[in-house]
Amino acid sequence: MYLEEIAEPTLDTHQVKIKVKFTGICGTDIHTYKGEYANAKLPLVLGHEFSGEVVEIGSDVTKVKVGDRVTSETTFTTCGECIYCKSKDYNLCSNRKGLGTQANGSLAEYVISREESVHLLPDNVSYEAGALTEPVACVVHAALEKTSIDKDDVVLVLGPGPIGILLAQVVKSQGAKVIMTGITPDENRLKFAKEIGVDLIIDTMKEDLKVILDRETEGNGPDKIFDCTGVVPAVNQALPLIKKKGTFVQVGLFKEHVTPIDTNSIIQREINYIGCRSQKPSSWPIALKLLSDGSINADKMITSKYKLEDFQEAFEAVMAGEDMKVLVES
Ligand SMILES: [Zn+2]
Ligand SMILES: [Zn+2]
Repeated sequence: MYLEEIAEPTLDTHQVKIKVKFTGICGTDIHTYKGEYANAKLPLVLGHEFSGEVVEIGSDVTKVKVGDRVTSETTFTTCGECIYCKSKDYNLCSNRKGLGTQANGSLAEYVISREESVHLLPDNVSYEAGALTEPVACVVHAALEKTSIDKDDVVLVLGPGPIGILLAQVVKSQGAKVIMTGITPDENRLKFAKEIGVDLIIDTMKEDLKVILDRETEGNGPDKIFDCTGVVPAVNQALPLIKKKGTFVQVGLFKEHVTPIDTNSIIQREINYIGCRSQKPSSWPIALKLLSDGSINADKMITSKYKLEDFQEAFEAVMAGEDMKVLVES
């Protein structure tokens, strides 16, 4: 990966040209950076979590105007014809192309997005916070679209990474109780989770998860569990502890395609084990509302900012694992 001058992108009639302000770096970018992510079509400008200002619009665009503060869904093109496109489940369209994966993304001065994907930032959502809309939309999809959260729920979130901690805030916004687990090397992140509002943190290497969950749920187990680790032992530790008829949402991606999951617990406890992929158009207005009403503490989540020319340092910082969310300023 390197920084170079490329031609300024040009617009189609239904597209919007955005002067990028901030881009968030996420795990997917790191996989692409290391060459582990086969999905990326090279050469490519990375960056899919961003905010910016509209500087030019195509002749058919009516939703936004020059000067608007915006963010954008990552969907760049879809087939428009499959059953998933018809129901706006663009995350499931087999011919979808995404910004920063198959089309040039936002680690640049300008990015082009299609009008349908662009969303206005509420006045009280800063450009920095706006760059978090995409990951917030992903956890909104997991917590509020693939399932729902009741205020009386006790919810267990596995994994105190940026996604787990954003998800915990979405769950808290519904009034539920949130317990988060991690391992001893996650100590700082667990502390961070507690500071941002998670009710209870558990180091599963030091504490007995079952004993604590029994105590917190009158022996029934948590109503819902979200895995944000993609780590098989973490999932298998949690599956037998969920409430019978409970819901388990798999947010984290596993390294391997086929994994030895505790299917017996899924069957015997009648668990709803739900898959969850990315986000879709309906997730975005909800994400923006949660950023606007303060349910998501964006200021605290953003732990460092780098200039575009220092992208290398920004990527190193994400890989070092001490930051929560790292932004790059274009
Ligand atoms: Zn991302
Ligand atoms: Zn489609």
